[in-house]
Amino acid sequence: MNKPAPRYRSLSSWLKERFGEPVRKITVDAGLGCPNRDGTISRWGCIYCNPRGSGTGASDHGVSVREQVDRGARFLSERFHCRKFIAYFQSFTNTYGDLSDLAPLWAEALEHPGVVGLAIGTRPDCVADDVLDHLAGLSSERLVWVEYGLQSAHAETLELINRGHGPEAFFDAVRRTHARKIPVVAHLILGLPGESVVHMKATASAVAAAGVEGVKLHPLYVIRGTPLEGMYKSGQYKPFTEQEAIDATLAVLERLSSETVIHRLTSDPHPEELVAPDWMLDKRRVRAHLAMAMENRDVRQGSLWCNRDEILPRLQK
Ligand code: SF4
Repeated sequence: MNKPAPRYRSLSSWLKERFGEPVRKITVDAGLGCPNRDGTISRWGCIYCNPRGSGTGASDHGVSVREQVDRGARFLSERFHCRKFIAYFQSFTNTYGDLSDLAPLWAEALEHPGVVGLAIGTRPDCVADDVLDHLAGLSSERLVWVEYGLQSAHAETLELINRGHGPEAFFDAVRRTHARKIPVVAHLILGLPGESVVHMKATASAVAAAGVEGVKLHPLYVIRGTPLEGMYKSGQYKPFTEQEAIDATLAVLERLSSETVIHRLTSDPHPEELVAPDWMLDKRRVRAHLAMAMENRDVRQGSLWCNRDEILPRLQK
């Protein structure tokens, strides 16, 4: 019997199509900072971010990029028998610095023979043209993409969560990145304070209109030591229930192009840092519930996508 067509385009299947075999990501912490924490923009960071900045802490422990990649590749090849990897610069803001400091970090990762590409996570207001030019040069031989945190396309939400940039910074960064033929992944958070599903649908349509090649969706969770924890404890913020997160995820998926690669649909909190909601810890169950909801409601990525020529005039009104 033929396998049913997948309901969304996952990163793992896209990488497998492209490289002919499974490709896994190695998370790298290059020890870079964030202008939203060091006082350049603010000292408080985004309200959901703790001082670790999604980092592994490897750099603080003196582990070089080369060692992190070597260790990651060894671990993943033993566990999953894979030979190809993407080095994912995840922690903090990975284009925050001079090109002369950044380029050697990326070169170190690419020295490993199994590394077939780079994923660079960063803020959209923090990417200089010479850095993009350099990444464009690397992308002529390897797969390179840039991941920009947008989180929401609504200026008032970005202000409320203290992002330190507005939506226009994201659209400008996408334009400059695309001008160099580098693919873009947009990070979106579902369930931000003050937002309803209507806001999230509009954000999905806006990133779809910008023509991003990938999207990463994270339902918001509360971690220790963040301003969001204070909002949660004082009753100012109520996290999504699992059902609300599933509903929002499906509503966003339907509005993205079917060509967009979905890098993530669920969140991955550290159990020891998580304050709420508890249901996020059982990722396997959440994924199963999401798959079931897609099946039961016959939801497919892209079923409500409007092509950008249709949607841009509407967004500009
Ligand atoms: S931009 Fe990233 S690292 Fe910086 S405060 Fe926000 S979430 Fe944390």
